[in-house]
Parts: sequence; structure tokens; C-alpha cells
Amino acid sequence: MSVPNITLNDGNTIPQLGFGVFQMDPDKTEELVAEALRVGYRHIDTAAIYGNEEGVGRAIAKSGIPREELFVTTKLWNDRQTDAAAALDESLDKLGLEYVDLYLIHWPTPAKGTYVVAWQQLIELQKQGKAKSIGVSNFELEHLDQLELKTDVKPAVNQVELHPYLQRWRELDAFRAHTVAIEAWGPLGQGKSDILDAPEVTDAAAAHDVSPAQVVIRWHLQNGVILFPKSATPSRIAENFDVFGFELTEDEMAAITALDEGEEGRGGPHPNDMNDA
Ligand code: NAD
Repeated sequence: MSVPNITLNDGNTIPQLGFGVFQMDPDKTEELVAEALRVGYRHIDTAAIYGNEEGVGRAIAKSGIPREELFVTTKLWNDRQTDAAAALDESLDKLGLEYVDLYLIHWPTPAKGTYVVAWQQLIELQKQGKAKSIGVSNFELEHLDQLELKTDVKPAVNQVELHPYLQRWRELDAFRAHTVAIEAWGPLGQGKSDILDAPEVTDAAAAHDVSPAQVVIRWHLQNGVILFPKSATPSRIAENFDVFGFELTEDEMAAITALDEGEEGRGGPHPNDMNDA
């Protein structure tokens, strides 16, 4: 079982499949991340706002896995966009790390007008080696345009809501044309949608003798997307990583792609409407 690496626009590589810890109970995070590392995950996606960076850090420290074999992402929360250096230091302290592999601006919060300032600070943090790669999350093309106009560093990734009900390939392919890799958040619909019950998904699951979640993870992987599904259940943590022994056919891929509902399928806020701290 081997997770492909994707090469980012700065030359660094990222494991295409990782483990996300959004809404993971801080008291359970250490044990669940330890389980993920035991299963074989080497890429962990957290954020300052998740409140569980300490648990991620303890699991990493106790794992004995060499630091260079791990890929750790955290994110700058919205109320720290003008204060990114201190915010990253706090995250590094909680994670018990000298550097993160990827540091993201969590949301553009365009009404605040500070995401370009935040990006300029992330560029400095990358130069200092505190973040090997830097990127953005929930950015629209107009926000990328501003970064390109005002700085000469492009984000390595854009982490956006992406699943069979919300695909937006026209926009995402435009990001890719600017060499920005796409990461999917909510790749399984966050357990809020009925995506895992869709016949297009369950039929493919039956055909390959795998679970609906494994089919959706495969669909993302075969689309070249980076993802880190979350689970707090050890059997599902293992299942979500066991996705390299089968391949969806072109017809199965197309049937799932046809489930796109556009904006109707969005489960979280539109990035332009998210301006909260
Ligand atoms: P997800 O799509 O990964 O869904 C997780 C839920 O799916 C679980 O809670 C469970 O209900 C269900 N599930 C997981 N594995 C399953 C299985 N094998 N079978 C059946 N059901 C299963 O949602 P997510 O956690 O929101 O997204 C993944 C990661 O993306 C997060 O943990 C976080 O790291 C990141 N994220 C980022 C943002 C952002 O704004 N940048 C927002 C949300 C999430």
C-alpha cells in the first residue's frame, strides 16, 4: 500500500492522502492520530482553530517516526491575519515542531481586507524555514489574482470544499493552470450529506467489494486531488487508507462526476460570506 506523492509548485512533495482532524475532540486527538500513524498515514491536516494541535503534536512525538517522513499542515485563523508570525510560533509550540510542512491562510475573509498582508507574512515565514510550503484555503480566483498582483509567490495549494455534490472544476482547473494544487476539505460530505448512499457510489462499491467511502476517496485520488478524510473510528481510519488495491473505471468516475449539484451542493459557507473571526 503506497500513497502517491504530489509535487508542489515550490518543489516540495505532499502525500496525496492524509488524515484530517477537524472537530476532533482534543482529548481524543492524540490517540486517534496515533492510530492513523500506526495504520500508515504520514500526512496530518490540523488548524489553530481546531484546538487540537497539542494532541497532534503528542502523537507525533510519541510515534518515533522521523520528522522528515511526516507532512504536517496547520492554518492561520482569521483573527490573526495581521499577526501571522506570532500565530505560527504558537502553533509550532503546541505541535512541538520546529517547522510545519504547509501553512495555510484558513479563509480569505475578504471584508477584512487583510489576506494579502497575511500572505506577505507567510512568504517571510517560508524564507525563515518555519513553513516549508505555504498556501491558502477557501480562496476564490479573485483572491488569487490579488496575491499574484501584489506578491511574486503563488500559493502551493488551495484547500477548498470539494466532494461529488460540489465540484466547481472550471474554477479549480483555473487554479491548477496557475500551478496551485487542489486539496479537498469535506471530501466525504462531512457525514452531513447522503453522498455515501448515492446508487452511483454504492454500485461501484459493490462492484469492487469496497465501502462507499473508499469509492469516494478513490474518485478524488483519480482526479489528482489531495485529501485527508477524517474519522474518529479506528476501523474507518484504516478503511479510508486502504484504497490502493482497486481502481474506478472511466464509467464509474463519470457517474460520480455527474452527481455535481454546483452551489446547491455546498455544505459550508461560501468563502465570500465567511468574514468572522
Ligand atoms: P469529511 O468529508 O472527511 O467527513 C468526515 C465524516 O465522514 C466523519 O465524521 C464520518 O461521519 C464520515 N466518515 C468518515 N469515514 C467514513 C467511512 N469510512 N464510512 C462512513 N462514513 C465515514 O469531513 P471533514 O472532516 O470536514 O473534512 C476532512 C478534513 O478537511 C478535516 O478533518 C480538516 O482537516 C479539513 N477541513 C478544512 C476546512 C477548511 O476550511 N480549510 C473545513 C473543513 C474541513
